[in-house]
Amino acid sequence: MAIANPATGEPVATCPRGSARQLDAAVAAAKAAFPGWARTSLQERRRLLTTIADVIEANADELAALLTAEQGRPLSDATLEAHGTAAFFRHVAGLEHETRVLDDGPDRRVELRRRPLGVVAAILPWNAPLLVIAFKVPAALLAGNTVVVKPAATTPLATLALARLIAEVTPRGVINVVTDANDLGDRLTDHPDVAKVTFTGSTATGLKVMANAAKTLKRVTLELGGNDAAIVLDDADPRAVAPGIFHGAFWNCGQVCLAIKRLYVHDSLYDELCEELAALARQAVVGDGSDADTQIGPLQNRMQYEKVKGFLADARAHGRIVAGGELSGSAGYFVAPTIVADIAEGSRLVDEEQFGPILPVLRFSTTKEAVERANASPYGLGASVWSSDLDRAVAVADQLEAGTVWINKHIDVAPHIPQAGAKQSGIGAELGEVGLLEYTQVQVLNVKK
Ligand code: NAD
Repeated sequence: MAIANPATGEPVATCPRGSARQLDAAVAAAKAAFPGWARTSLQERRRLLTTIADVIEANADELAALLTAEQGRPLSDATLEAHGTAAFFRHVAGLEHETRVLDDGPDRRVELRRRPLGVVAAILPWNAPLLVIAFKVPAALLAGNTVVVKPAATTPLATLALARLIAEVTPRGVINVVTDANDLGDRLTDHPDVAKVTFTGSTATGLKVMANAAKTLKRVTLELGGNDAAIVLDDADPRAVAPGIFHGAFWNCGQVCLAIKRLYVHDSLYDELCEELAALARQAVVGDGSDADTQIGPLQNRMQYEKVKGFLADARAHGRIVAGGELSGSAGYFVAPTIVADIAEGSRLVDEEQFGPILPVLRFSTTKEAVERANASPYGLGASVWSSDLDRAVAVADQLEAGTVWINKHIDVAPHIPQAGAKQSGIGAELGEVGLLEYTQVQVLNVKK
């Protein structure tokens, strides 16, 4: 398969297209490696994760260049992603999932143990290919599972490079990568030898994954779509909050599950904040991620580009564009960061997940109303509250239906902070000890004394 650079539309490299037979071979390899890997000591598994972190660190520049070439993000961001991936592996290497003694009385001894599950299928999206691996693979391995990783069809290169780099240090069959043309996901999630599916992607695909997994009662962790609301209360300072909101909405060209996708602003600050955001949008440097000045790269693929163009048309029809709105004239999938005012619920841009650089700004007059409107979504991934009064902001956060609520920031991801989606944004959690436990099966050992 030819893999295109989204900044130019030109091919970067070709990549093998896995067949159904090769997918089965990868699952069989993971299944064969499982008993041996599950028997290794926790110490040995920690050692592998640390070694992988070292290998990623040592090759971060090569991985970052590939990420920029296939995904489009600015090289500085891609470099952070490569180092971040190493840091996540390193952090997980230090996590604990020890056996706990629940009862050690005169009649019985009861232990709560955590056993590995078996073969874990890790299915990735195209917006942050390496980082999403770091959300899943180290925890699965530390718990004693083996994995089959399937990257998205348009971003397989950094994943394959990583696989090549770690093949020498990883026991055979423990980590497998299969690339596809967006056509092997069904077979992988349907496979009788897969014990768990950890999936990051759209809610529509997540529903299919869960239906397939149900046939053999596979465990699932689903990190799905979002339509995060940010609420700016009347006591916020528009100039002070604008850069954080801009970053939360436009980082990675808005292609972040946890990006701000709806901005609710109190009436009294509305015009001023729209203007502050518009100024930042006009200043932002949009371009090829390999240019040092670029702050915002292209959309990752043609399909997403076409989708975002549809949202732009909707914004024009139902709102007022205060900044941006232009497409690039060149071959790449560029859309200028766009601020849309005077738009309301009922438009596609507000009700659906745009996953691109177009931010609708909505006006509210009471906090109660803002909370109700923020919650009126099938999604519940993240949310944020912006205010100069922390107690007031926390009181609003308490009412929001979301897996993460930030105050005076949006998007802050770290390996020790679990991430979970409420409502149709997901099932289960990733990262931290909570995330690690999702790769284990509870086993109670109950001994008569
Ligand atoms: P997508 O659902 O189209 O694809 C994700 C992955 O699923 C790809 O690897 C794809 O090949 C695979 N796939 C396709 N059909 C499948 C099937 N029937 N069964 C199993 N797998 C199948 O999503 P995308 O377009 O790559 O990513 C964008 C979406 O991902 C957005 O909705 C975004 O919000 C979401 N996302 C969520 C998170 C999170 O943590 N919640 C993070 C990043 C992206």
